[in-house]
Amino acid sequence: MIHFTELSQIQNQALQSGKLQSISARKEHLKRLKITIQEYEKDILTALKADMGKGEFEAYSSEIGFVYQEIGDALKNLNKWAKPKRIFPSLSLFPSRAKIVNQPFGKTLIISPWNYPFQLLLAPLVASISAGNTSLLKPSELTPHTSAVLVKIIEKCFPSDIVAIVEGDGRTLIPKIIEDYRPNLIFFTGSTQVGKIISQQAANYLIPCILELGGKSPCIVHKDADLEVAARRIALGKFLNSGQTCVAPDYLLVHEDVQQPFLDTFQKIIQEFYYKNEHPFHSADYTQIVNPFHFNRLIKLLEGVSVVFGGSYNEAERKIEPTIVKADMNQPIMQEEIFGPILPIFSYKDSIEIDSIISHHPNPLSFYVFTRNDQFSENLTMKHSFGGGCINNTVMHLVDPKLPFGGIGYSGSGAYHGQWGFDAFSHKKSIVKTATWFDLKQKYPPYTKESLKIIKWFLK
Ligand code: NAD
Repeated sequence: MIHFTELSQIQNQALQSGKLQSISARKEHLKRLKITIQEYEKDILTALKADMGKGEFEAYSSEIGFVYQEIGDALKNLNKWAKPKRIFPSLSLFPSRAKIVNQPFGKTLIISPWNYPFQLLLAPLVASISAGNTSLLKPSELTPHTSAVLVKIIEKCFPSDIVAIVEGDGRTLIPKIIEDYRPNLIFFTGSTQVGKIISQQAANYLIPCILELGGKSPCIVHKDADLEVAARRIALGKFLNSGQTCVAPDYLLVHEDVQQPFLDTFQKIIQEFYYKNEHPFHSADYTQIVNPFHFNRLIKLLEGVSVVFGGSYNEAERKIEPTIVKADMNQPIMQEEIFGPILPIFSYKDSIEIDSIISHHPNPLSFYVFTRNDQFSENLTMKHSFGGGCINNTVMHLVDPKLPFGGIGYSGSGAYHGQWGFDAFSHKKSIVKTATWFDLKQKYPPYTKESLKIIKWFLK
C-alpha cells in the first residue's frame, strides 16, 4: 500500500526539481505512455471484455483510441498551448509589459468511474502531464481487470514521483488521500452524489475540484426532424456501452404529431443494429451491465412502466435488451439517472411542455435536439443550461479535442479534452513587468485633486 505522506513528499520534490518544467520532458512522458499502452493493447481489450463484456470496436474507439487521440493532440500542440501569452496592457499600467504564464497546480488527484474505466483515467492524466503536474490516479474498484492493467501500465511507464496509482474503495481511500497526499487539484469523474462528498472534503483545505458528473440528459425530436437519421443517431448514442455512458440520452421528448412514426422507425433501426446477426444477449458487441447491483437497479426501474419495445433481460449474461418504455414523471425511472439501455419516451405539444419536463432535472450534462428548424434549436439550446450537446446528433460533442467537454451545476464544473484539458490543469498566472524610467508621482500618497483627476482619466 502506498504511503500517501511519503508520496506527497517525493512528488513535491520532483516538482521543485523542475523535472517536469520543460515541454520536451512532458512530451517524453506522453510518448512513453503511448508506447506502453500500445504494448498492453491486447491486455486492455481482454480486461474491458472481462469487466464489462465490451466488444473490440467499442473498446478501441471509445477507450484506447480516445486516449491516443488526446496524446497525439497534446504532442502536436503542447508548445503552442504552454507558450506564455503576451498581453498589451491597458494605459493605466504604463510603462509596463504583461504576460499570462501557465503554472502547473502541482500534485493532482485523478479519480475515475467504471463506465469507461480506461479512458476516463488516462485522458485527464494526459492533460495533467501536459500541464507539468505530478499525479496520483484512483481508478474505479468496480472494473478490477482494467484497473489491474492500468496499474501495470502506470508502474512500467512512470516513477512514482511523477505518476502513482492506487486501487481500492473510494469511500475509505479518498478521505485518507486528501488528508495525507494533500493534492493541489482534484479531477473527479463520477456521480453527482459522490462529487458533492469529495468537494466537501476538498473544501477543508481549499483544494480546487474539477467535477465531471452525470445527470438526466434530454433528447428532443421535433415534428420536422428527419426521423430516420434521428432514430439512427439516438440509438447509437443510447445503446453504446449499453447506455452506461454519461452523455447518453436519458429520456426522449417526441412531438405528439410524430411520436408513432418515430417509434416505428426507431424500432426498425434498433432491429437493424442489434438483432441482424444475433440477439444482443449473444452479441460480442453488446456490452454487459457492469455488475449485479446495477443490473438489479435497472430491472427495478422497469417495474410499473409500460414497455414499448424490448424489456427482456438475461441475468447470467447481465444483459438487458435495448428497451423503450412509457412512464410517468413521478416514477423512479424519471427520478434518477438511468445509466443503462432503457429509454423512456414522452410526447409534447409545444415548447412550454418541453421546458416544464426539463425543469425537473436542471443542468443536464448533455442536451440533444433533432429538428430542421434552426430557430427552434437555437431557442432551446440558448434557453436551457447544460454541459454541452448536439443538434441532429448525440454524443459527438465529446469526441473532438477541439471542443471543451464538461458539465454545469449539478452535472459538474470545469472542462477538459485537448487544450481545454491543458488549461484545466494549469493555473493562469498574470505577470506585469513595469519599467523604471517613468514613475508618475501622482500615483502615490499624499493624494491631491490632481491625482484624482488623473486616476479618473485612466479608469473610464
Ligand atoms: P461514483 O461516483 O460512484 O464513483 C466514482 C469514483 O468515486 C470511483 O473511483 C469510486 O471509488 C469513488 N467513490 C465512490 N464513493 C466515494 C466516496 N463516498 N468518497 C470518495 N470517493 C468515492 O460513480 P460511478 O458509479 O463509478 O460512475 C457513474 C457516474 O459517473 C454516473 O453518474 C455518470 O454520469 C458519471 N460519469 C460522468 C462522466 C463525465 O465525463 N461527466 C463520465 C462518466 C461517468
